[in-house]
Amino acid sequence: MLLGLLALLVTLLIGIAVGIAFEAARTRRARASAPGTGEAAAAPEAPAGPDPQDQSAPARAAGGMRRAAIVLNPVKAHADFRASAAAVCREAGWAEPLIIETEEEDPGTEMAREALAAGVDVVVAAGGDGTVRPVAEQLVHTGVPLGIVPLGTGNLLARNLSIVLGRPEWALRTALWGVDTSMDVAHAQLSPEGEDHVFLVMAGLGFDAAVMADTNDALKTRVGWLAYVEAGSRKLLGNRAKVSLRFDDKEPKETRVRSVLGGNCGKVQGGLELLPGAKVDDGILDVLIVSPKNLADWFGVIASVVGRRRRGLHTEITPCSRVVIEAEDEMEVQLDGDPCGETAYLAMEIDPGSLVVRTAGEELRRRIRAADWPVPFGYTND
Ligand SMILES: [Mg+2]
Repeated sequence: MLLGLLALLVTLLIGIAVGIAFEAARTRRARASAPGTGEAAAAPEAPAGPDPQDQSAPARAAGGMRRAAIVLNPVKAHADFRASAAAVCREAGWAEPLIIETEEEDPGTEMAREALAAGVDVVVAAGGDGTVRPVAEQLVHTGVPLGIVPLGTGNLLARNLSIVLGRPEWALRTALWGVDTSMDVAHAQLSPEGEDHVFLVMAGLGFDAAVMADTNDALKTRVGWLAYVEAGSRKLLGNRAKVSLRFDDKEPKETRVRSVLGGNCGKVQGGLELLPGAKVDDGILDVLIVSPKNLADWFGVIASVVGRRRRGLHTEITPCSRVVIEAEDEMEVQLDGDPCGETAYLAMEIDPGSLVVRTAGEELRRRIRAADWPVPFGYTND
């Protein structure tokens, strides 16, 4: 048994090392292929043109040009991003974009409201999942499509929607020319009468939220998602908490957990699928309970995740529409990676098909896969 665990550990370490080498090589390749800055770099090469079938955005009133609003996290974007975004819109025949920068105190809420009030054709969240969430929250049930330019560390929603990473201009082109599809969002309340919050990927109570809250930002800038691995290793050992879970109208179930995660979709970094089979448009909230008692149990958890098991060793996934979790003591909580303090109550409910999101159609995906476009600003971020 012990030998098996050691073999698993070695395999995982090799996997992580290969992953780091792969990421580093990819970044080097992208940088090497980038031309320098200056005049030539300021105008991205005109694309071959969108597939007419991909032009799903409704035409504006006669004579009017389409316009995008971009809610931009300036901390995450390359210095030339504004010029780059304007050039992409021009080449697509769209009006000058309305670019609104987020602030430390407001990661996107007021900016998305301003974008909606301006009557734009698409609202693009340019940043990490922490920017996408407040922007999407304002777009739910409006029918105005959400575009995503992933500039963060995790970019989990972009990964789940197969939006191109590390190529902001192409992600923006996807936001302009892509196809509109409806996806689910989930609502969360952190107290019985509490404010409604929207999340798009996962909300968590316990271990994972504690990891998010304790991740070193400076390290995150340097090594990306591996900073979460570092924080996670410091939090592995700890006591399980007693919680009661009520799925839909069923009887409450009492159990001990390290973490409870409610997921709208399941892909995370490194190609792992934390919630196998979970999709953004299946109308299902998948609830993962993680309940290891000790370090050895964590190997079972890892094996279950790697093995894509819905009911594994110290893990269990329950599909539902709504879950109410009540804990004996307060635990840390996170929504799409944003630490939201501590709570002893978390209610989560799926809201099917309530958000329109713009993703790459087949023709656009083919061009992105071909990867034969220039990288005008020498900028990669994935
Ligand atoms: Mg789902």
